[in-house]
Amino acid sequence: MYQNNLTEISSALQSKQISSLELCGIYLERIKQFNGILNALISICEDSALEQAKRADQNIARGKATKLTGIPLIHKDIFCTEGIKTSCGSKMLDNFISPYNAAIVENLIQAGTITLGKANMDEFAMGSSNETSYYGAVKNPWDLTKVPGGSSGGSAASVAARLAPFATGSDTGGSIRQPAALCGITGLKPTYGRVSRWGMIAFASSLDQAGPMTQSAEDAALVFNEMAGTDDRDSTSLLLDKEDFSRYLNKKINGLKIGLPKQFFSHHLDSKIEQLIQNAIQEYKNLGAQIIEVDLPHIDLSIAAYYVIAPAECSSNLSRFDGVRFGYRCKDPINLQDLYKRSRSEGFGAEVKNRILIGTYALSAGFYDAYYLKAQQIRQLIKQDFDKAFEQVDVLLSPTSPSTAFNIAEKVDDPVSMYLSDIFTIGVNLAGLPAISIPCGFNEGLPVGLQLIAPHLQEASLLNYAHQYQLISDWHKKIPEKFS
Ligand code: GLN
Repeated sequence: MYQNNLTEISSALQSKQISSLELCGIYLERIKQFNGILNALISICEDSALEQAKRADQNIARGKATKLTGIPLIHKDIFCTEGIKTSCGSKMLDNFISPYNAAIVENLIQAGTITLGKANMDEFAMGSSNETSYYGAVKNPWDLTKVPGGSSGGSAASVAARLAPFATGSDTGGSIRQPAALCGITGLKPTYGRVSRWGMIAFASSLDQAGPMTQSAEDAALVFNEMAGTDDRDSTSLLLDKEDFSRYLNKKINGLKIGLPKQFFSHHLDSKIEQLIQNAIQEYKNLGAQIIEVDLPHIDLSIAAYYVIAPAECSSNLSRFDGVRFGYRCKDPINLQDLYKRSRSEGFGAEVKNRILIGTYALSAGFYDAYYLKAQQIRQLIKQDFDKAFEQVDVLLSPTSPSTAFNIAEKVDDPVSMYLSDIFTIGVNLAGLPAISIPCGFNEGLPVGLQLIAPHLQEASLLNYAHQYQLISDWHKKIPEKFS
């Protein structure tokens, strides 16, 4: 059953071909068998999962089930889970048992899902390779010497290796889409404000969004129906009516206008990846789409703007980890200053400290205008470029990542090359847009991802465009040999 996708597993549960208890048993076995190799999970919740599965089976028997009732999942360890360690990949929170559930965890529990465990991730979601985690690097299921991408690397590796039918992720600059691309799965980054951030540990609050990581767009729609929603505990949550995100899945896409941002095809791109993207473009043409070149004149500034804005926000958000209220506290502090200093020096890893320093510097009185304000102005220009592009086309298409999965340790000493992993994804976060990464082929045995970007709030259409491609391709069905 683990080879099936979420949509198929959901039908099997509803028609009682399998019970949730049996299903969870299968995945827990796989987790025990493979987590030693992959390091994809930080916590495994066997007992509570089996309890929840029994309850789900009772609800299914009583006819009180949603499409997700009895479906197991793995939550990225950035989401607070009541009574379960919520580490955010950091030594700082290694001892933190959350007293409450994040909004999306709550929503998914209400829909009847089962939490199998918590996924490894880059520390505080800062990274593109899952190597900044306090709990060690995650391995890519397609090649254990490669990274899975980051920061939702544990989630992506778990779905790719079929340790769960789906996982949750978060995306501040690409952290759902880039690992989805590197692990050969589907990852949806929603419109900013569509999914509540309540209980999701904050990295850069104006960019962070949670989303589903699944095998297919059809599966993502099912999950997203339960994840998304207005929440008055998050002041940036959008006031919107409930939607069925599956409603357009089967709509034909002839006449669809697809824009190719010329900046994304000019440089930074491996020729073999470009060829696979061109093949996918041809498939879309065969489906009746029209291809138009568009201009995003300021997009090349997106990495620079992001690495001012995101660190600025994180330096503020992470000030709460002071060794007083929760998390790591240094031994035998001699006074309050010493308590703050040593708790933070010992509790945070190198990349997090880097970002806090950059952010504090960018926000300091003498440099605020030169860096932070400038970056915000660039952000505005990037958003306007997207708005203009969407006057001409319905959706934008690009690669998700400039390379396939790279070697573990290859980029750790080269932050610029690491940061460039998100060259095609970061602009989307700056503009608050929804985007999805779907598998579109393999280069030397490693998956390649295709990114589709839609105007604000058009997730249902985005899922339709992705699903239509997945109906005529089978890249998303491939399972890495060791895990099949
Ligand atoms: N790789 C980017 C960073 O390191 C994005 C991370 C994310 O989306 N959480 O900040």
